[in-house]
This record gives sequence, structure tokens and C-alpha cells, in this order.
Amino acid sequence: MDFALSDEERAVRDTVRAFVTREVLPLEQEVLRRERAHQPGLDRSELRELQLKAKKFGFWGLATPEEYGGMDLPAVLQSLIWTELGRSFVPFRFGGEADNILFHATEEQKREFLLPTIEGERISCFAITEPGAGSDAANIKLHARRDGDDWVLDGEKTFITNGNDADFAIVVAVTDPEKGARNGGATTFLVDRAMGWRSEFIQTMGEGGPASLIFDGVRVPHRNILGEVGQGFTLGMEWIGKGRYTIPSHAIGIAERALQMAIDHANTRETFGAKIGTNQAIQWMIADSETELEAARWLVLRSAWTVDQGLDPRHASSMGKLYGAGMVNRVVDRVLQIHGGMGYTRELPIERWYRQVRLYRIFEGTDEMQRLIISRDLLRGYTKIGGHLA
Ligand SMILES: Cc1cc2nc3c(=O)[nH]c(=O)nc-3n(C[C@H](O)[C@H](O)[C@H](O)COP(=O)(O)OP(=O)(O)OC[C@H]3O[C@@H](n4cnc5c(N)ncnc54)[C@H](O)[C@@H]3O)c2cc1C
Repeated sequence: MDFALSDEERAVRDTVRAFVTREVLPLEQEVLRRERAHQPGLDRSELRELQLKAKKFGFWGLATPEEYGGMDLPAVLQSLIWTELGRSFVPFRFGGEADNILFHATEEQKREFLLPTIEGERISCFAITEPGAGSDAANIKLHARRDGDDWVLDGEKTFITNGNDADFAIVVAVTDPEKGARNGGATTFLVDRAMGWRSEFIQTMGEGGPASLIFDGVRVPHRNILGEVGQGFTLGMEWIGKGRYTIPSHAIGIAERALQMAIDHANTRETFGAKIGTNQAIQWMIADSETELEAARWLVLRSAWTVDQGLDPRHASSMGKLYGAGMVNRVVDRVLQIHGGMGYTRELPIERWYRQVRLYRIFEGTDEMQRLIISRDLLRGYTKIGGHLA
């Protein structure tokens, strides 16, 4: 058994780490200042400039196939890279990416939606959640009715990331209520904002915010169906699957950075004439955090490895998402505690992480949904205890 990184993995990881240290970390104070003034941490042109800089170093389209100019990296490498990006709270991500399901597009749709999204000229959002259907995504009600060469969409989506900035939405709609979404009754549509949907910003405890999308008789041509009629739910689940290992990979980077801050603070802050790190209470918080961080790292790397092996990654990814999201919440909470009153202030990014990582236990499948998947797999005998070693 070999737990080491290959030379290539180490080289890529180190290059990303150097890029983040040189180009991203220096922006942190300004990002914090702007966010405190309720402005975006990075505006679109600044993000693009950084992405183009990264492109010069070869980092463009981590998951994008080479024929579209991307790197098409294995999932393990992508996981390692997301961990490096997690080490800074600057909202930076590499360019050259598009929603994984957009690669199912027709040639015409590729020209209109996929290629401009990869290039960063168009912004997409993915919309399945509705006011009455989140965890129970098969219960969606946004309806698409066939009318000649068009479909007419009526209903509402909610909590849609990028919903305010996107110029097109990838929308899962009910096309056959009798069948039900899960059994071929849902279809995915590519819907330009210009076709008539509108968005409403939702304030959250995090920075930025998702949006509700309102569809009131929005006409969409039949040629804008992504994949096949009836394939909507399957495509929706494929979209969500990607986040199951990238989200906890990001969480690991946040936890690493925050824990290092706590260690530095424990080694310098003095109370009662001694460094606080000499107290067992503080030592245990550090020890528990490091242990959980390492446990999360190996769970998440294994789930990415499962993707690379072409095995069904759902069970492993659910465990990685469940544990990684919980881990980062526990670690950031302890790091805040170790910083005392300063941890609670807006001078440090800790309270920002505290708010940010709470989302990780909710979106793209709540903790409870991950537990449901894990236990169901075992109870039905689909997965054996011991995973791929069983
Ligand atoms: C900031 C943000 C960004 C988001 N981005 C997107 C996006 O881009 N696109 C998109 O489509 N959606 C997005 N979402 C939606 C997100 O995926 C849902 O909020 C999430 O799936 C939970 O659904 P819900 O909010 O309706 O909660 P509900 O499904 O109503 O669940 C409420 C609670 O009940 C629990 N629960 C539900 N059913 C069960 C059960 N059977 N057993 C045990 N417990 C249960 C849940 O775990 C949860 O704790 C986003 C959400 C947020 C907050």
C-alpha cells in the first residue's frame, strides 16, 4: 500500500500552492475589506485576469477534456488542487471550466453554451431546487409544456448559485407529471436569461448569495433541450455528483489553513504567564482537529480515486462529503475558540470561515441525505463494509 503522492501529483500540487501563495494570498486583506463593505470580494474582471494568469502556467479547465483546451485531470489531482484553493478565502477558482453535464450538448448547443462558458464569456447556473423540493429533488414542480416547436416553462427555482449573474440557466423541469421526475418525467433545458426568466437575490449568512429564478410562461425552443426528453433527473444527479468530492476537498484546505493559525496563536498568546498551547485543553483541540483532518483527507482522496478507477463513486463520495463537511465545521469552531475574543471579530477571517463552512453541511446533499445514501447502500447489500478492500 502506497500513501505517497506520485512525482506528477506533487509537482502539480506544489505549482498550485506557489500560485496561490504568490497571486491569491496577497489579495486577502482587500477581499475582507470589500466584503465587510458588502461588495464582492473579487469582481468578474479581476477573477478573469487571475484566471488568465493561471492559464499561462498551464492551469485551465481542470476537468475540461483536452479537445476543449482543458487539462482533463484525474479526480485525485483535482481533489489535491481544490484543497490548495481552500487554503485562501479569496473566491478564486481556475478558469476554463463548464458544468460537467454541458458536455452532453449537441454541436449547436456546444457553440452557444459550452464553449463560451469554458472561455468565461458566459456564466451558467444550475437549477433543480425549488421552494417545495430540495432534498426531495424528485418532487420538483416547475413545469414545461410542449407548444409547437417550443416548450413553455412555469414555476420557480430557489437557492441557485450564480443565479443573479448567470446569463443562462440549466433548468430541470417536469415534462411528464404522470411519470414523475425520477422515472423519465423530467427534462433539462438551456434557458437564456433573455428568454424571460428573472432572478431575485437571497440574503444568506455567507458572502454573496444565491437567487430565486422565476419562470412565468418562458418560451424555450425544443432545440434547447440538453440530452434527451425524460433524461432531466439523471443529468441533475450527474451534476450534483461532481461536488461530492470537490466540496470536501476544499474543506480540507480551509481546515489546514485555519488549524495552522490556531497553532501559531497557541504558540504566541500568553495567559497566566504561559503560552496557551501549554494547556491540555488547547492541545486536545489541536490534536482532535489534526486527527479529523487526516481522516477526512483519506476518505476524500479515496472517493476521488474511486472516480479515477471507473468504480461507482457514490458511496465513497457520500462518506467524504458527510465527514469532510462536519470536520471543517468542528475544526473552524475550535480554531475560533483558541483565538478567544479575536476569533469572534471581523479583523480575522475565522468568523468568515465559520459562516462559509456551515453551508457545506447543507448544499449538494445535506448531511442527512449523505447518511441516507450510505446506510441504504449497506442495508440493501449494494456496498460491503470495508469498501474496495472488502
Ligand atoms: C447557498 C446555497 C447555494 C445553493 N446552490 C444551489 C444551486 O446552485 N442549484 C440548486 O439546484 N440548488 C442549490 N442549493 C439548494 C440546496 O441543494 C438545498 O438547500 C439542499 O439540497 C437542501 O434542500 P432544502 O433546503 O429544501 O431542505 P429540505 O429538503 O427541506 O430539508 C430540511 C431538513 O430536513 C432534512 N431532511 C429532509 N428529508 C429528510 C429525510 N428523508 N430524512 C432525514 N432528514 C431529512 C434535511 O437534511 C434538512 O436538515 C443551494 C442552497 C444554498 C443554501
